[in-house]
Parts: sequence; C-alpha cells; structure tokens
Amino acid sequence: MKCPNCGNRTEVGLDMHSSGFSAEDSPIKECGACGLVWRIKIVDGKTLVDIIKPADKK
Ligand SMILES: [Zn+2]
Repeated sequence: MKCPNCGNRTEVGLDMHSSGFSAEDSPIKECGACGLVWRIKIVDGKTLVDIIKPADKK
C-alpha cells in the first residue's frame, strides 16, 4: 500500500494494541518517508483513509 500523503511505499507497521487502539481489521501504518501515520477504515464498503498523525514537515 502506498502512503496516501507522499505515495512512498516505505511503510512501517505499528503495533498499537497496547495503546488502546483496536487494530484488528485496520492495521496502523507509518510512512517511513514522510512520517504520516494512518490506517484504512472500511465504511459501508468504501475504503477510507483515517489520518492519525499528520506528515512531518521538514
Ligand atoms: Zn509518506
């Protein structure tokens, strides 16, 4: 999956189960290039991007 912000494929999976997130069906991803943290939500059959942390601006 490409980063929805910068399109980079360098992503890092985060395990946030211990932080109160329920990531059963929507694993949280972090972009290794821009720092965006997001996950995919499926709502009414549509794929939505849920931004958890904005990209780092440098
Ligand atoms: Zn990115």
